[in-house]
Formats: sequence, C-alpha cells, structure tokens
Amino acid sequence: MMVKIDMPYILDFYPLQTEEFTQIHSFFENLKEGKFTTTKCKKCGEILWQPRIVCPHCSGNEMDWIDLPQEGKLFAFTEVFYGVPLGLEQDAPFSIGIVELDGLPMSVLARIDDAHFEDLEVGQEMKLKIINLEDGRVWFRWEPKK
Ligand SMILES: [Zn+2]
Repeated sequence: MMVKIDMPYILDFYPLQTEEFTQIHSFFENLKEGKFTTTKCKKCGEILWQPRIVCPHCSGNEMDWIDLPQEGKLFAFTEVFYGVPLGLEQDAPFSIGIVELDGLPMSVLARIDDAHFEDLEVGQEMKLKIINLEDGRVWFRWEPKK
C-alpha cells in the first residue's frame, strides 16, 4: 500500500505563495490570472528579477508591479539528470533553459516543457507556460513557441 507523506515545506521546491507566507504574493496571484509580472523600484526605476521587496541597487523598498513579456529567445539550456529537487525525481531527465525576454534586457531561468533536449536550439522562440499545482499553487516554465 502506498502511503502519501506530506513533504516538510522547507524541502518543497515550490514556494509558499499566499500573503501569510510571502511579501511577493502578488507575483503568484498575477500568475494565476495569466500575467507574468515582477517588481520595478519606484526610487531608481530598476526592473528586478526575481520580484523583490527591497531594491538591491538603491535599497528602495517601494515597488510597482509591472507586466513582463511572456515570450523570448532561448539563450542557453541544459539537461538535468541528477541533483533534482526533492519531489521532482520522477521527472528527470528534463531540460532547463535561460530565455532572454523580448523587449527587455532580462533573462529568466526555468524548466522547459514539451520539448526533447535534442530538439532545442539556442535562439529558439520560447513562450511562458503556467503550471497549476495540485495543491492550488502555481508556477511557470518555458515551452517552445509553436
Ligand atoms: Zn532601486
């Protein structure tokens, strides 16, 4: 008989996403609505990735939420066989890649879905894929733009 054991949250790959646990809960709420967002510092104007509550450039702590492009070009990628985060062992091997967002000098690293490693190419057009986890949380990955 299989016994399901709840994973201690501290070992869980996915962050706790509600206001109770994180000050960047808006990122996850926006993602659930299909929006890919991050913070922009009100003081110096720097666009920050990942979303932050304090600006690493000027220490400002007032942020605006801005929409990010959901498409870009694959800058680099690799295939993960070992050292997979707890709970994702059954998914290995899988690919991860850095995508340069269209129209912004910003790159975002995420897992790549719906593509074999052998079929990926640097420069390939990619788009955001929003993942709904079974427990109601949400996450993002990349997938090839078809
Ligand atoms: Zn700043």
